This record gives sequence, C-alpha cells and structure tokens, in this order.
Amino acid sequence: MPRIEASDLLLVVDIQPDFCPGGALPVPGGDAVIAPVNALMDRFRHVAATQDWHPAGHASFASSHRGRQPFDVIDLGYGPQTLWPDHCVQGTPGAALHAALRQEPIELIVRKGFRPDVDSYSAFVENDRATPTGLAGYMRERGFRRVLCAGLALDYCVRWSVEDARRLGFEALAVVDASRAIDQAGSLGEALAAMRKAGVGDRLRIQARRLCRRAAAQAFRGEGAVAGRQAGVPAICGRRQDCARHSRSE
Ligand SMILES: [Zn+2]
Repeated sequence: MPRIEASDLLLVVDIQPDFCPGGALPVPGGDAVIAPVNALMDRFRHVAATQDWHPAGHASFASSHRGRQPFDVIDLGYGPQTLWPDHCVQGTPGAALHAALRQEPIELIVRKGFRPDVDSYSAFVENDRATPTGLAGYMRERGFRRVLCAGLALDYCVRWSVEDARRLGFEALAVVDASRAIDQAGSLGEALAAMRKAGVGDRLRIQARRLCRRAAAQAFRGEGAVAGRQAGVPAICGRRQDCARHSRSE
C-alpha cells in the first residue's frame, strides 16, 4: 500500500444493511467488509462515505416497470440500466449506514440515487453520466488528490467510483480486499479486468498484506493481485498483522 498522505481520502462506499446478508439487495459476504474498512479508517486522516438513497418507486427498481424482473436490463433514456429489487429506500432501516460501521471518522456523507429517474453507481457522476454528485468539487476544495475506495459493491459502485475519479483527474485505487461484489452476469470479471488494466493490482496486494499477511497470501496467490479470487478469499481480516486464525489455517 502506498504511504497515506494528508491529501488522501478514504471513500467508504454504500455499506448499508440492504447490501448486506439479510438485506433487500444482498452482496454475498457484504458484511465482511466492515472490519477491514473500520481498520482502514485509522490509517487515514480523512474519510468520506456514500449512501445509496432512493425515493420509493425509483426508476432503478424492477417493481417500477410493469413485467420486469430484478436484474433485467432496460433503457432508461440515458442508456442501459440494470433493474434491482427495491433497496435503500430513503429513511428505511436498510438505507442507513450499517450500525457496525464506525461513523465518527466520516467527515462527509454523499447520498446518491435520490433523483427519481436516474440511478447513481458512481460517487462522482450519476448514471446519466452528466449529473455530478458534487464529490469532485468537494475533493478539489479540500485539496484531496487521491481517493481509495472500499465497500459495496466492488463491481458496480466501487468500480464506477474509481473509474470516474481517475477520469476527473484524481488518483484512485480500489481496495479489493475491503470490498465485495454482486458478481451478476459476469460483472465481477469485467470489473476486475478493467481495474487490472488500470494498474491497481500491486498496490492492492500490499494493502492486503498489511491487513493480514497470511490471509492476503491465500487470497492473492496465483493469478495476481486483482484477480485474487474474490469469491475464494478465505477470510477478510481487519487485523493489521498475522492473526491467529490465518496462522492456524496455513
Ligand atoms: Zn441503488
């Protein structure tokens, strides 16, 4: 992991009950990101978070479109849009930041997806690819030059946020070992390939090793850092050095 500077921002993406097991749109193992993200917060001077925040009847909900099912893809006027189960409805418990997530270090919460007709995966630009969330302006005013994104889901909101950050002139990394994917219709493989192409792999491997070297070695053995067997990561571990669990399993 690169040295963390005062101009770095940790962006915690969509760690909300609806994206965790038992939620409306659960990401497999989604709650496993909470411990490593909580641990990461100690290493950054500045932390922001995003919160998916939809009005009832949002255009990204399959239930808003007659005859459609979750995971269908339709054209919403701004391009293809995957339809989801109703999730993260404003003010509901599933839309809160997860109770186990440390919240005191979070300096800014960016709510996204609140426009009824536009979804927003990215923390920076909504899915119409034209409407800014304001985060880029915030980062510039605060003097942040680099953003490290971790959370849910790796293949949608984390990926899109990293890509947009780079496009907008910031350095950006995805912390793969503190993220989890939906992995729907090949989306994880596509996201990993895109991020590998962007050259984030080595840094992520170092990041994982810092969290728990043995877990990282297991997770990232073989195909390289980013491939890393997202599904096969034996345990995402928030400890900063080798922990008993992974020592035993080696
Ligand atoms: Zn959403």
